[in-house]
Amino acid sequence: MLDKKKFKIYRQLEDLLIFPSDTVLINLNIEKFGLLKDQKRSDYVNIFKEYFLSGGGTFIALAYTPVAVSITGRNLPYFDGTQRSYTGAFANAMLKDSDSYRSSHPSNSVVAIGDKAKDFVRNLDENGGAYDFCRRLIEEDGKILLTGMDSYPGFITHLVEQDLKLYRQYWSRFLMKVQLKDKVFKRLDPGGCSRSFDKLYKEYIKHEILRVGYVNEGYSLSISAKESYDIDYKIISKNPNILRCSDSECSTCRFYRWKTIHRVPFFVLRKLVKRIFK
Ligand SMILES: [Zn+2]
Repeated sequence: MLDKKKFKIYRQLEDLLIFPSDTVLINLNIEKFGLLKDQKRSDYVNIFKEYFLSGGGTFIALAYTPVAVSITGRNLPYFDGTQRSYTGAFANAMLKDSDSYRSSHPSNSVVAIGDKAKDFVRNLDENGGAYDFCRRLIEEDGKILLTGMDSYPGFITHLVEQDLKLYRQYWSRFLMKVQLKDKVFKRLDPGGCSRSFDKLYKEYIKHEILRVGYVNEGYSLSISAKESYDIDYKIISKNPNILRCSDSECSTCRFYRWKTIHRVPFFVLRKLVKRIFK
C-alpha cells in the first residue's frame, strides 16, 4: 500500500485520540472503511498491526460465535476456538493472523494482536461473564473505535447490563447453549437489545467524551472505555428500561423477558404462519 495513504490513516487515528501505545477495541466494517485496491483481507489487519506494534499497543476485535436457544439441546453450535466469527471480515482476518490470540468464551470470544494480546485474552472463558473482556479494557484504560457502522451500537454498554444483572429479566437465559468438546455450555447472562444503545450518545456528547472523525473513508467514533462505562452505569442503574426498543418484532424486548412470557404462544404461532406462507 502507498505509504501516503497509510500515514493519512495514522494521522486520522491520532485525531481520534487513538495512539500506538493504546489498548483499543476496534469494530470495523471493511466496505465502509474503504476497499484497498488489489489488497488482501490481511492487509487491513496489517495497517493496524504496524501502527500499534510501533508503540507497544494492542488492538482487539469481537470474535463472537453462535449460541442456540434450545430446549432439547440437539444440533447445538459447536465451539472449540477454531470457528469463524459472525462479527465481520476484519475479525476473521485477525483470527487468521499468526500473531493473534483468541479468548475461549464459547459465544463471546475476542481476538487480540499486540504487546498485551496474550494477557488480555487470558482466562476469558466459560467460567466468566460474556462481557468480562470489557472490564479488562477498562482496567487497561482502553478505548473503543467504531468505524463504518451501519447503526450506532453501544461501546461497552453490555458490561453495564451484566454488572447490574439485567440478564435476570430474560427467561431465555436458561435455554442458551453451545456444545463444547466435553460438555454443554449454558450461557446464563444474555446481553440486552442493542438497537437503542444510541439513546446514550447524547449523554456522551453532553459530557464531551465522544470523538468523531474518519479512518480512511469510514465515519468513525471513539471513546474511553472507563468514561463511557461510568455514564452508562449512572443512567441505566436509574432507569433499566431505557434501552428497550420500539420494534414489535424484536424477540429480545418482546419475547424473551419474563414480563412478556405470555406472548410466547403468539410468537410461536406467528413464526409457524410465516414459515407456511413463505
Ligand atoms: Zn429490542
